[in-house]
Amino acid sequence: MIIFSCKEDKSTKEPSKKVNPIISKIQKEVSKEIVEVNDIDKNFVLGKFNYRKDTSFVKVDNIHASKTIYLKKEAYNSFIKMYDAAKTDNINLKIISGTRNFYEQKSILERKWQKYENLSPIKRAQKILEYSSMPSTSRHHWGTDMDLNNLNNSYFDRGVGAKEYQWLKENAGKYGFHQVYTSKANGRTGYNMEKWHWSYMPLAKQYLKFYNSYITYDDITGFKGAELAEEINIIKSFVNGISKDVGETR
Ligand SMILES: [Zn+2]
Repeated sequence: MIIFSCKEDKSTKEPSKKVNPIISKIQKEVSKEIVEVNDIDKNFVLGKFNYRKDTSFVKVDNIHASKTIYLKKEAYNSFIKMYDAAKTDNINLKIISGTRNFYEQKSILERKWQKYENLSPIKRAQKILEYSSMPSTSRHHWGTDMDLNNLNNSYFDRGVGAKEYQWLKENAGKYGFHQVYTSKANGRTGYNMEKWHWSYMPLAKQYLKFYNSYITYDDITGFKGAELAEEINIIKSFVNGISKDVGETR
């Protein structure tokens, strides 16, 4: 069911004499959803688009990033506010990774696929999935998620890193940012803990909702190991394997 494509939209607007009240209610709810999530389609949540040419994305200023990075405008604007607040507390935030599309994620995954060639296919995929996503299943596709300061949890355990992490835990939520890959001790599934990965939930939660409504395993294809996605339960265990604490964030 692709209710977001123009073609389908037109067909639902065909004049009809009798309106079934139940269908009418559903259509009203659907149209409300379209207003809320009007820039979402399947290719977007699957990472199959060019964020450099998408006007809802913006290039991050050099002072905030370690390299050329793009983010969704709304997420970046909120990051700037968080960055400025952190700065006044002598905390320096630096974005070290932002949006990655399907093709970029595919090259990361396939490089690792090569690296673990001695493992059985399923073990190979599981090893990669400790920290890296399969293409079309990454929150980094959405422009809402970013990696900050350092890609090692140990960096955030002491010294400057511990101060930065403490500041983020206390303040990031005020700007909409949450750590989605927290400890797995309480039963969270999916990727290992990532103290560096922060997600702008006001948008990301809409994208996840869309993903869960419209994406199936038939959509997750086109890279090495894709045939294992369903067996590993990628959608339930990984795409939805995020901290429960972020569920109601607005
Ligand atoms: Zn990340």
